[in-house]
Amino acid sequence: MSGVIIGKDAKVYVAGHRGMVGSAIVRRLQSAGYNNLVLRSRDELDLTNQTDVRDFMQRECPDYIFLAAAKVGGIQANNVYRADFIYENLMIASNVIQAAYAAGINRLLFLGSSCIYPRDCPQPIREEYLLTSSLEPTNEPYAIAKIAGVKLCESFNRQYGTAYVCAMPTNLYGPNDNYDLESSHVLPALIRKVHEAKLRGDRQLTVWGSGTPRREFMYVDDMADACVFLMEANVSDGLFNVGTGSDITIRELAETIMEVVGFEGEIVFDASKPDGTPRKLMSSERLHSLGWKARTPLREGIERAYHEFVKNSGV
Ligand code: GDP
Repeated sequence: MSGVIIGKDAKVYVAGHRGMVGSAIVRRLQSAGYNNLVLRSRDELDLTNQTDVRDFMQRECPDYIFLAAAKVGGIQANNVYRADFIYENLMIASNVIQAAYAAGINRLLFLGSSCIYPRDCPQPIREEYLLTSSLEPTNEPYAIAKIAGVKLCESFNRQYGTAYVCAMPTNLYGPNDNYDLESSHVLPALIRKVHEAKLRGDRQLTVWGSGTPRREFMYVDDMADACVFLMEANVSDGLFNVGTGSDITIRELAETIMEVVGFEGEIVFDASKPDGTPRKLMSSERLHSLGWKARTPLREGIERAYHEFVKNSGV
């Protein structure tokens, strides 16, 4: 079934509005003139608490939900805090999706990640490769929780006729990213490492793993644009990859960041850290066929992210 068209005064709930993706969705909605946003911080609403989520949905009854709340992290955090990643993400997805249905909310966009796809699947990764072989072990718990979210949406749509849609972003970066070196993803980690190496006058930069894995990176405002596009296009079912269509090696990423920051050291690879999936490039053809494309070139996005990082770090 197709959803009701969302107008600018529709009540739109963005779950996870303080995070990188949620905050970008809020910026995008506000700039497009949406004037009735529902936002709750973690202190106000704990999405792992089923009763609180049910009460909130019954009370607020939003017209549309962006489910961007999640426990997220880089390769190290996913690998170490495995229980927290699977538990919290399962709870958030189950509580929000079921409570939305129970409150009669027909439209929702669930956000996942490219790591839901099998470790060694053909590239570029198409949506139909989901569940065709084993996952990457370092982030399997997180991926299983996100796959459960996808299947919750699909199953509620099939059984109850809801219009719950899933978007799977590639590796994202931008404002409100996590720059903590232990728990962050590679791009913000390298922005911070290169910046600090430059300030200290270091001659070397340490990069985890072998530098050979390939990743696709997208500026988070492009992701937010895709999310609002899916809402406004009145898409009512299915899984949509969201990426730029091109990938680079971790070594090339480090070199690009070094150029942007203006640091000329030698790259040293730390083989004690895992490489993870060898390649993760998504096919975004399904979304392209609806008329959406990413706009921000990688170099420009890194420059914007770097300026934001410097501004916020106060150095
Ligand atoms: P993944 O995409 O789930 O593997 O997560 P990450 O973004 O954390 O890591 C991507 C790749 O970058 C892996 O091969 C890491 O080993 C590599 N990498 C290199 N240096 C770093 C670093 O300082 N932090 C992180 N998180 N990854 C790094």
